[in-house]
Amino acid sequence: MSPPQAHLACDSAQHLFGPQRIEEYVAAMRLATDHLTDKLRSVAGPATGRTPASAAAAVARVDLDTPLGDAGAALRELDGLYLDDAVWFHDPGYAAHLNCPVVIPALLAEVLVSAVNSSLDTFDQSVGGTFVERRLIEWTARRIGFDARADGVFTSGGTQSNLQALHMARDRAAGVAGDLADLRILASRDAHFSVQKSVRLLGLGPDAVVPVATDDRRRLDPAALARELATLRQGGLTPMAVVATAGTTDFGAIDPITEISALCVSHRAWLHVDAAYGGGLLVSSRHRERLAGIERADSVTIDYHKTWFQPVSSSAVLVRDSRSLSHVAWHADYLNPAGETQPNQVDKSLQTTRRFDALKLWLTLRVMGAGAIGCYVDAVVDLARAAYDRLRDEPRIEMAAAPELSTLVLRYRPAGFSEEAADELVPRIRAALYESGSAMVAATRVDGRRWLKLTLLNPLCEVAEVLAIVERIAQAGDDLADGVAVA
Ligand SMILES: *Cc1c(COP(=O)(O)O)cnc(C)c1O
Repeated sequence: MSPPQAHLACDSAQHLFGPQRIEEYVAAMRLATDHLTDKLRSVAGPATGRTPASAAAAVARVDLDTPLGDAGAALRELDGLYLDDAVWFHDPGYAAHLNCPVVIPALLAEVLVSAVNSSLDTFDQSVGGTFVERRLIEWTARRIGFDARADGVFTSGGTQSNLQALHMARDRAAGVAGDLADLRILASRDAHFSVQKSVRLLGLGPDAVVPVATDDRRRLDPAALARELATLRQGGLTPMAVVATAGTTDFGAIDPITEISALCVSHRAWLHVDAAYGGGLLVSSRHRERLAGIERADSVTIDYHKTWFQPVSSSAVLVRDSRSLSHVAWHADYLNPAGETQPNQVDKSLQTTRRFDALKLWLTLRVMGAGAIGCYVDAVVDLARAAYDRLRDEPRIEMAAAPELSTLVLRYRPAGFSEEAADELVPRIRAALYESGSAMVAATRVDGRRWLKLTLLNPLCEVAEVLAIVERIAQAGDDLADGVAVA
């Protein structure tokens, strides 16, 4: 008998994971965690301020055709390309986008997810994994208030969840309307841009999204929605869907879902609730009622990788009626042939090969429980409120609104400063903070004006640390204001 790897001329497959390589595997995992924990101990701020040109040049210098042959050497090389200048979401100076520090049980799960490498498309590639995902979908559906007819599937993120939801809505409406150009989606003017992107991918017309006015707290105004729906009807157009946002990306505003759902019922429009940001309120004991009405949705987007403290990617789209998901069912002879009775998740997903991301949430719930996640959500909501209360009287800082969830929209604008001068400083202050490496904030536009945005998703962050970020903003503003025409 020939040796089992006689055909392998290369390196005897010494890098392939498996029972022959347990020592190498354990050594590699230890190397990774040792290397990472060394970095973690030396993190001095959320970023180092490295420029795109510098990062690009470092990566370009690597000769990909000459391997280093050694994991330690490759990690040391990676330091200069990536790790030394990484952006750390757990750092209290990080307050830019909707990124969260992640929980340790989910990181534990990641080790299993990538090593076992199940693919969730079919039962025969995942076995128990299929049912772990199904239980989590069922569990989330119950938290939403859906009944046993509900279903859903894990996705790569809110963008994909929204696309899939709007595809279902389009399928239902297309049966009624016939012409795709006549279909309209109504969403508040603050809805996420993935709604616009979905419209393009779905082949709807350029005017398919009808922006609906918001109230003084930037929530979709149901009276304005009613008017828009009536106008569409008069124009012979079909309201295919209404998107209610539960937590807008900038202001955290939660649209009044119950009132919106009543209008959807009378106009036979699909109700999609984009709870990518606000979805964490499902497990909050103090704020759950703010999602009242979500159980009336036809579909819901939840991003576990935002307010559930899960590593990217972890998201789901859920539907009130499981039959809606048949829009992506397809039977391939090699994978999930028609007539086969196996429970195959690919029948519900836009993806085929798909990571077992659900395991992260599973171990999170089994180790910590949903209540702990809910407490984290409550903590960041409280943090934003407490910081806002302290900042209202800060003379150099203008606040756009009281926080609805965990964002603060603000800018540097001392007395006598014009709107234009404040606008001009926003990107420069943001850049100055990034360059300093001491704090990271985002920027946005509100009614045509520029604002800075702090997204607070770190439950360990103290009010004083948020105030310190704002103090840096004020300092940078003072430093930069000299060259700006203020009035
Ligand atoms: C983040 C976000 C999305 C997009 O989700 P991804 O996971 O980044 O694809 C959609 N809607 C809202 C309201 C969001 O905040």
